[in-house]
Amino acid sequence: MKKGIDTSYLDKKARLQDDFWQYATGGWNRRNPIPADRSIWGTFYVLRENSNIQMRDVIEPLLRNKKLKSGSDEQMVRDLWLSSMDEARREKLGLKPLKPLLEKVNAIKTKKDLEDFIAWGHRSGLGFLWGVHVGRDDKNSEKNALFFHQDGLSLPDRDYYLNDDAESKRVREEFKKYIPRLLHLVGYEEDEAKRTANVVMKVETELAKASMTRVERRDPHAQYNVRTLASLAREAPQVDWKAYFKTMKVEPPAKFIVSQPKFLKKAAEMIDSVSIEDWKTYLRFGVIDDMAPLLTKKLLMENFRFYSTILSGTKKMRPLWKRSVGVVDGTLGDILGKLYVEKYFSAKAKRSIDALVDNLFAAYKERLANLEWMGSATKKKAFVKLKAMKRKLGYPSKWQSYRGLHIDKADYVGNLFRAHEYEFDRMAKKLKKKPDPTEWYMTPPTVNAYFDPNANEIAFPAGIMQPPFFDETADDAINYGAIGTVIGHEITHGFDDEGRKFDHRGNLKDWWTKEDRKRFEKRAKVLSDQFDSFEAIDGMHINGKLTLGENIADLGGIIIAFEAFKKSQKGKKREIINGFTPEQRFFLGYAVTEAGNIRPELLKKVLVIDPHSPSKFRVNGPLSNIPAFYEAFGIKKGDKLWRSEKSRAQIW
Ligand SMILES: [Zn+2]
Repeated sequence: MKKGIDTSYLDKKARLQDDFWQYATGGWNRRNPIPADRSIWGTFYVLRENSNIQMRDVIEPLLRNKKLKSGSDEQMVRDLWLSSMDEARREKLGLKPLKPLLEKVNAIKTKKDLEDFIAWGHRSGLGFLWGVHVGRDDKNSEKNALFFHQDGLSLPDRDYYLNDDAESKRVREEFKKYIPRLLHLVGYEEDEAKRTANVVMKVETELAKASMTRVERRDPHAQYNVRTLASLAREAPQVDWKAYFKTMKVEPPAKFIVSQPKFLKKAAEMIDSVSIEDWKTYLRFGVIDDMAPLLTKKLLMENFRFYSTILSGTKKMRPLWKRSVGVVDGTLGDILGKLYVEKYFSAKAKRSIDALVDNLFAAYKERLANLEWMGSATKKKAFVKLKAMKRKLGYPSKWQSYRGLHIDKADYVGNLFRAHEYEFDRMAKKLKKKPDPTEWYMTPPTVNAYFDPNANEIAFPAGIMQPPFFDETADDAINYGAIGTVIGHEITHGFDDEGRKFDHRGNLKDWWTKEDRKRFEKRAKVLSDQFDSFEAIDGMHINGKLTLGENIADLGGIIIAFEAFKKSQKGKKREIINGFTPEQRFFLGYAVTEAGNIRPELLKKVLVIDPHSPSKFRVNGPLSNIPAFYEAFGIKKGDKLWRSEKSRAQIW
């Protein structure tokens, strides 16, 4: 008999009809408090921790190899790791790596100098005011385009600057104290440090006011604004855009896309309206703040105290080796990823997942065919989109090269700057090429998955193909409940409130009839209103509009995975394992992937910035809409999870 649910996860005292998440995960949550160096801890994060250990085990043997050729993949990984691990050297260097950057700021005299500095920062990885990136053109997915996007805020969202709730105020007050504290450590006098805090707050609040909200940014049409060099020069004449591109070493494309025109216009206006002196003050802080984690322990700790303790509730810094694994994965992801899959990835797991994805697609097709609310014209196009959806499993078929990148074990800061410029130039070169279908947006050890609307493609890195998401020894119910719902979730992103706006080729193009669009929106609103009503902590509610896409994906993912599971069981014997029916094990299998605890500070931040709902609501929210769940556990009127049939969200 295959493995059923691990019953130590359960909290049998909880009433599952009232709080299924508590019932399914309460035992695990009680036995697994959040480690001091974490702000959130759950099954997902245990896997990420394992993945960290595996990555370290891939890196460490390289340290014993004295014969690595300079410029080889292994040499780069080894020396980046060594440079990151060398805390003693960072202490010895002190502020030295910061000096040339501050001198660059101090040398700014004219508006032209200022704009040059901003452009240089964009290429080197220091973010000021706005940013640029290259990706598939939303309306022509066969081509790459350059995008301008809003940036320039130190706090995680514009709301922190503008809202008057207790948490926003608390964070603002702490930020105002953090700025002078950080500057003291670099040797600035009291007056100057205080003045800096005022200038930074003033500039960033202005930028925040002009920024689009996260909900507004979920509308791809609002973000698609084509400009040319000439039209941008008319709209935002304060900046010499030609020179800006030149300093970034990017040939300006004939047209590009400005995601938030109001913001870019305002930022350009501010180039003139804010004095050069204030800009220098603002940039100085930005440079010190960005560099602090790469310098001495004192600066690192001050930065950690604000961004990790105040904003997320983390008590203790993660050990250096874990941070260094993150640096190598984030900087040389394809080299480390290749070494990782050679050692840890099972081709058998890939084949099993591949078969599961086939089953999920088949169930999806049936589900679409049986939808009573969608008309046949829209259905036909939905089938086309579903059929065209591509899949990526495990790792890329082509690895990115880092040839020519210089990594020196004695130059941590230099390594990161050079690597950033290297990636920036790689990105800029894409403007002259067609999109590369083999490219991934996550590294192989990542414990996550994604849907890319512009490529109409789902991707599952090797890292997520392990227990409790996928377990070769577990029974089907659990695997369908866990990795099956993840796969269903990603497919559903192609049909959520945002993803549905892209066609089978990944182009932003309406393929829905007007009636079906209206019906969809009405149904989506039911779900959005449900989540708006959930209070997560201290009077703070989930934002139903911000989380709508993820909540639709959860709801659709569970339903489709359940149907695929039922299909897979035809003709098979029904087994009771640990007292649970197959259907019950399916829903328990889903819930345990959301086991975990979160600190209140992080929970409050998540509610503002994260399109995903907190774990408890990712379980109880969708399940309260699913008839099969009611049936499996006998949910009845009077139970907290019960909803009348009329008030349930029914989309996919
Ligand atoms: Zn998602």
